[in-house]
Amino acid sequence: MKKRPSAQILCVGTELLLGNVLDTNSHTVSVGLAELGINLYYRKTVGDNLDRLVFSIREAIDTSDILVLSGGLGSTVDDLTLEAVGKAMDIPLEYHTPTLEKIEAYYRRKGVVMTENNKKQALLPKGAIVLENRQGMAPGTITEKDGKLIIALPGPPRELGPMFREDVMPYLAKRYGASVIASRMVRFWGLAESAMDERVKDLTSLEAPTVAPYAKNGESMLRVSARGESEEECLAQIEPVVEEIRRRLGDYFWTDFEDSFEEALVHELRASGKKISFAESCTGGLCAKRVTDVSGASSVIDMSVVTYAASAKQRLVGVRGETVEKFGVISAECAEEMARGIRELSGADIGVSVTGLAGPTSDEGKPVGLVFVGVSTEKKTYTKRYFFPYENDRAHVRLLASSACLAEALFTLRGKE
Ligand code: ATP
Repeated sequence: MKKRPSAQILCVGTELLLGNVLDTNSHTVSVGLAELGINLYYRKTVGDNLDRLVFSIREAIDTSDILVLSGGLGSTVDDLTLEAVGKAMDIPLEYHTPTLEKIEAYYRRKGVVMTENNKKQALLPKGAIVLENRQGMAPGTITEKDGKLIIALPGPPRELGPMFREDVMPYLAKRYGASVIASRMVRFWGLAESAMDERVKDLTSLEAPTVAPYAKNGESMLRVSARGESEEECLAQIEPVVEEIRRRLGDYFWTDFEDSFEEALVHELRASGKKISFAESCTGGLCAKRVTDVSGASSVIDMSVVTYAASAKQRLVGVRGETVEKFGVISAECAEEMARGIRELSGADIGVSVTGLAGPTSDEGKPVGLVFVGVSTEKKTYTKRYFFPYENDRAHVRLLASSACLAEALFTLRGKE
């Protein structure tokens, strides 16, 4: 494939630097450029200052083929974008008659006298392609100099968004040809990001397809992305690499679709005609909630219990008083009895239990974040110890603990445990 052009986004506005306005335009433009297969190398923000703006435009043009500017096209003194473009690129500005007429007509209609500075929005780089602003007044412009493109777009997102998608993207697609980016996220549970990295080091240095590591909510992931003329061409590059990753890390693999643990679990339980039931302590029902969030859950879950107090664990899912006394409720022994107990009570094929400390205070002399998960089937019952060291984030510990339950259930269903 031909070498793709490179781009930079430069947002203009002191309000962005002060944090008064959140920069959403960069996101809009980034997504569109990625769709076109244009490499975005830099995103930058500069305040309403002519010298710094001129400097930033020159710097961007030195390093990229395309510069997309957002904001600073209005009529006030701090709207300096096009003046800076003219200065940086040595291009004169001149009045664009149709825009001038649009502004004049607007003020005539309003019955308000137009001031001189209102004309400023019609002062555009000579020779620029002018993009009509259907949502506002300031037009966008595409200026070319020495093979480089400077695209200046209005700041308000409701003006920039349609102009970028409806005018700029078709222009860029026509000029550079469109290419497609496709990617697959390969997701793992129970594998630290550093350990994952270690085992796929050679793949993460590939140029095509690219393999990038991520970690989020207790999961480690690898995004495999490729660029090509068509989706099929991309997938042909991606598939063998995903296969290789699965060969190396298959023990921890749980999905390469964009779904969640609960979706995967419900889907696979349904496919195998099996049912699940939970006995939850520290997650307070979150496992059951996540599973029942998925439509179609009614065919895989009949019941679930929250046994928060030790007495409830004993009464409902048969934890022995002796176990509580000897090991405490935050223990593998307790989790094991809870898992077996809920399976027997519910008649489900898989019983899953969770007991642990979500914090913020520790208990039984055990640290916050210590969690035991139990899984019981007719064939075997096992427990796993997890430690989520987020002392001051009760919600996060509970979320990770529930993910651990769903992941263990999934692995059990697949016969990995
Ligand atoms: P106008 O003609 O409305 O003045 P403009 O092109 O001069 O448009 P700015 O004055 O820079 O644009 O910004 C107008 C408003 O647009 C800002 O107050 C802000 O609310 C919004 N805006 C500007 N830049 C961004 C951005 N990068 N992301 C999201 N919103 C933005």
